[in-house]
Amino acid sequence: MPDLIYNLEAVRQRIATAAHTAGRDARSVMLLAVSKTFPAEDVRAAHAAGQREFGENYVQEALAKIESLADLRASLEWHFIGPLQSNKTRPVAEHFDWVHSVDRLKIAQRLSEQRPANLPPLNVCLQVNVSGEASKSGVGVAEAVEVAQEIAALPKLNLRGLMSIPEPAGDIDAQRAPHRQLRELFERLRDDGLELDTLSMGMSSDLEAAVLEGATIVRVGTAIFGARDYAH
Ligand SMILES: *Cc1c(COP(=O)(O)O)cnc(C)c1O
Repeated sequence: MPDLIYNLEAVRQRIATAAHTAGRDARSVMLLAVSKTFPAEDVRAAHAAGQREFGENYVQEALAKIESLADLRASLEWHFIGPLQSNKTRPVAEHFDWVHSVDRLKIAQRLSEQRPANLPPLNVCLQVNVSGEASKSGVGVAEAVEVAQEIAALPKLNLRGLMSIPEPAGDIDAQRAPHRQLRELFERLRDDGLELDTLSMGMSSDLEAAVLEGATIVRVGTAIFGARDYAH
């Protein structure tokens, strides 16, 4: 998998360049390698190249991968980033370190109740629909403040910040606008007293725009693992 190693390095370089432009330390941006649809062996190869944080979207696929990489569990961090139905929260609460896609209070309450007592609180982000599109998941900007306060009060969750998946946009200025909106909301929540440290935004095609607007986690799949084939 020489491509994978090369791609990882190229993505790290893109993050470093964008961070430099923004006057930020590149170490303040975590690269989350989104391994959905790719086999456990690719995750193992990326791990061997120093990558530790991986993102998955589909519960069953992720559980199989986590199990086949159980020998590496202590040095892997698993992030759930896909749409989460309430009947699938238990295995996510039991097997993941982070959930980025909490988009309503009910999901957060279930994750908190189902998080095993022997594990540290589950790190979560509130997913916000910044592009204002009815078809996308995420709470609206207007409800976000109240929902964030309620989630922050749950005992077995650690509300770390906000996540968004904006509409794809062509040029960097258009890409920056929704990321800026998320950052402004993040700052408002911090002014309200919430101790947040995470802005999960930016993917393969817009990670520079996200880093310029303050992303602390960029979620990158295609640029590392290649194009996804959903046929299998
Ligand atoms: C698939 C996915 C990504 C990665 O997207 P790429 O364009 O392949 O980098 C990031 N975030 C979420 C929520 C995803 O579902």
